[in-house]
Formats: sequence, structure tokens, C-alpha cells
Amino acid sequence: MANLVIVGSLALDTVKTPFGQVRDALGGAATYASYSASFFTKPATATTGVVGVVGVVGNDFPKQHLQLLQQRGIDTSGVSVDKTGNTFRWEGCYEYDMNEAKTVMTELGVFANFRPQLPDSYKSAEYVFLANIDPELQLKVLKQVRKPKLVLLDTMNYWIQNKKQLLLDVIKKVDVLLLNDSEARQLFETPNLVKAAATALKLGPKYIIIKKGEHGALLFSDGNHFSAPSYPLEAIKDPTGCGDSFAGALIGYLASKNSSSEKEIRKAIIYGSVVASFNAEDFSLERMKHIAAEDIEKRYEEFERIREF
Ligand code: AMP
Repeated sequence: MANLVIVGSLALDTVKTPFGQVRDALGGAATYASYSASFFTKPATATTGVVGVVGVVGNDFPKQHLQLLQQRGIDTSGVSVDKTGNTFRWEGCYEYDMNEAKTVMTELGVFANFRPQLPDSYKSAEYVFLANIDPELQLKVLKQVRKPKLVLLDTMNYWIQNKKQLLLDVIKKVDVLLLNDSEARQLFETPNLVKAAATALKLGPKYIIIKKGEHGALLFSDGNHFSAPSYPLEAIKDPTGCGDSFAGALIGYLASKNSSSEKEIRKAIIYGSVVASFNAEDFSLERMKHIAAEDIEKRYEEFERIREF
């Protein structure tokens, strides 16, 4: 039974940064998020994984990519293979300011006709992450989950530009909204992040998390505010997937504690920042493949020291 359901893209990414490049490498919001969530959820077999992914890939998606997720105990029975088209492809590049990716190309491929159908074993999940994907698909998934305790939503400028009203409809149905600073400004049409968060809170979510890339993250709730630092990384190669790794670790940690208290959400933000910082150290999922729970704990403790004053 999947207790944490993640819907989002599974992708083949072509990425160029000042430190190198990859072509058709494993990527996608759901890929990064489920992999990082799996550090916090119990190991399980491929069919009984605690994290269940919902998405679609084309005929060209290498089998070993799904196997990589299955080896982490992630349930991939919600990933359909559509033989009529190609996997979603994204091409992006970064300049020396690695906070913002420039999208060179987006090819929806099989995502264009995707109608998500959750396996029965996912429908009683208590935690749901609607990762960056068409808000129409996010809604379709949410409708199929019976009684979630916590729903986390992420998005990106592409959907703010193209499907803003639908996105606002989804925001009204979730508990936690995750945005980066430029998206928050764009969506709520204000340069002021405090105002953007206040407007977002009025729509319904209990918590708004605004990611500020290498400058950490802010949490807003009714009357409260928390500012988390980021990890001072010396070796950053590729920030692709940092937002998704952050979100996956955040909700994976909350699912493992079965809590959505503000105290745990603050800790979850730090765990999210820790896993995202590892992710940026290499392209695709390469760095995450080589870390263990102990590495995450060690860096979490460093975060505690950074915050002391
Ligand atoms: P981030 O965590 O924000 O760096 O997300 C990077 C991932 O988002 C990449 O692996 C892409 O494949 C994926 N991605 C990029 N554009 C889109 C889009 N329009 N819809 C869904 N996923 C996307």
C-alpha cells in the first residue's frame, strides 16, 4: 500500500551548466521527489512500496530508470508506459547564477494525452505530493485519493503562464503550497513575498513555503514565519531537481512522522534543504545515488550549527 503518492513528470533531461552537460539523462519532478522521499520512508518491495509514483513514460524510457526507483522501494505500478509516443523531455541551461533555469525546450510527449488512473493500492494514501505537472492532471489525481491528511503542491512558471485559473483551483484544495520566489511574485502579481504569502494563505492552504534557491526557504502560516538557511555548498554542478528533491524529502519526512505540525514542518524544511544540497552536487540523480541516511543526518546536524546564534 502506498502511503505517500507522488504525481509528476518522469523525464529525459538535457541540461547544460557552466560545469558540464548531460543529454537525455534521467529527470522529472516525480523522479527526484520520489527518490528523495525514499530516504525517509520504510524500505519495501517494488509492489508494496510506501512511496507510490503516478506518471507516464514513453517507449523510449530506459527500463533501468524505473528499476532504479524500484530498488529504493518505490512503487511504480502507477507509472504507465504509453507506447504511442516519446517520454516527456525538458532541456534547460544555467548561467553562473544557478538559481534560475532557462528552459530551452519542453516536449510534453506522452504527457499530452495522459489520464492518470491510480492503482487501488494508492487510493488510501494519507500523504500526497502534486509535483510540478499540468494542474489538470494534479486535480485528476487528487480526486482519486480518498482521505489524504496532507496534500503538498508544487508548480512552475510554465503552468502559471499557461493555466493560471486551474492552478488557483488546485491551490484552494491543498494544505501546503510550495513555490520559488519568482513564481510567488508572478502568480500573485507582487514583488513582495510577505504579501504574496498572505494572499496565498487566504486561498486555503495552511502553510506556504517559498524557496529562495541558494538563500534558503521561508515558511508562512497564520501569524507565524520561519526562515531556513541553505547549505553553503562549495561544489555545485547542477541544481536541476533541487526543488523536487526538497519537496520529496519534506513530505517523506512528514509521512515518516505521520505529522503535519508546524514543528515537524520546520524540521522537514531542513531535511528538504539537506537532500536538495546533495542533489546539486552532480547531474541528474548521480549524487543522490551515492548517499545514505547517515549522510543526511550528518548534514542536518551541520544545519543546526549554522542556525545557532
Ligand atoms: P526543479 O526541481 O524545479 O529543478 O525541476 C526540474 C525537473 O522538472 C526536470 O527534471 C524537468 O524534467 C522537470 N520539468 C521541467 N519543466 C516541466 C514541466 N513543464 N512540467 C513538468 N515537469 C517539468
